[in-house]
Amino acid sequence: MARTVGVDLGGTNISTIVLDEDDAVLGASKLKTPTTGDRTGVVEVIGAGVYAALDEADARLEDIHAVGVGTPGVVVDGTVGGAANVPGFLERFSLAQMVTEHLGKPVRIINDVTAAAVAEHRIGAARGTHDLLCVFVGTGVGGGLVLDDRPYEGGRGGAGEFGHMVVRQGGAVCPCGRRGCIEAYAGRRAMVLAAERAVVAGGSTVLFDCMEEKGKERATSGVFLAALERGDTLVADLLDEAIEALGAGIASAVNLLDVDAVVIGGGLADKLGEKFRYRVDAAMRPHLFLHPPRVELLAATLGDHAGAIGAGILAREHA
Ligand SMILES: [Zn+2]
Repeated sequence: MARTVGVDLGGTNISTIVLDEDDAVLGASKLKTPTTGDRTGVVEVIGAGVYAALDEADARLEDIHAVGVGTPGVVVDGTVGGAANVPGFLERFSLAQMVTEHLGKPVRIINDVTAAAVAEHRIGAARGTHDLLCVFVGTGVGGGLVLDDRPYEGGRGGAGEFGHMVVRQGGAVCPCGRRGCIEAYAGRRAMVLAAERAVVAGGSTVLFDCMEEKGKERATSGVFLAALERGDTLVADLLDEAIEALGAGIASAVNLLDVDAVVIGGGLADKLGEKFRYRVDAAMRPHLFLHPPRVELLAATLGDHAGAIGAGILAREHA
């Protein structure tokens, strides 16, 4: 009865799942990530999430032999740093040690998007491939790599930053402060800023009306879809640019790495569905170098659970 726990620590939620030895999900929990306080408070909520998921799985802590935690930020040897959206995670510290002390179990820490890539590789859309790039289009644009069947994290944990590949030199300002990154065109946060600038310059859009009508404080992926469905040309133009940037960026990554598959997921990709995947595929093709091109662009299949599942799988494999 070997069980493994996987945790996906996000800026908004902490999702936790309990996996059996065949990677079936036995139980899950979702708690709010603290927005104030320090890292001790975050680790306490991680612990509470583990107990809640175990409860749902009808399992106990004694049944668990390892815990995996997917976290935003740059991960090196169980330490994490550089995650601005989780309290206390900007400066580097050993998250593995803190969670181990809290739960008394071996803990494996991995970047959240890399964890999701592992899940899509082992049991999701890219099952059976050896080399893959995962692209997640949401508030920002994240990337994760599995090369030769193993997660590729780079020498200092910084690999897979797909969103900050430059597709236009001197282009739009990215939330990272640089210019011309893919995220500057395809990240929802950047698209909202572009829409706000367009309105100030006299343009019109129903994006912010849709946001109010849906009672949202932010322009979520669902708000974007609603604006598109109402024929909003400004949002349609922003989406065209996003798709062009993703197509060029994905093709560049494929030209560099010759991966078997690219999995595309995240809030915006999931909401816009097959049409979005098809359009990104069409935008990618003209930039591919290898002929005939053999790469496949696939839709992610594991949704919100991917990060937690991938972290759990890695924790078991390295326990
Ligand atoms: Zn950037």
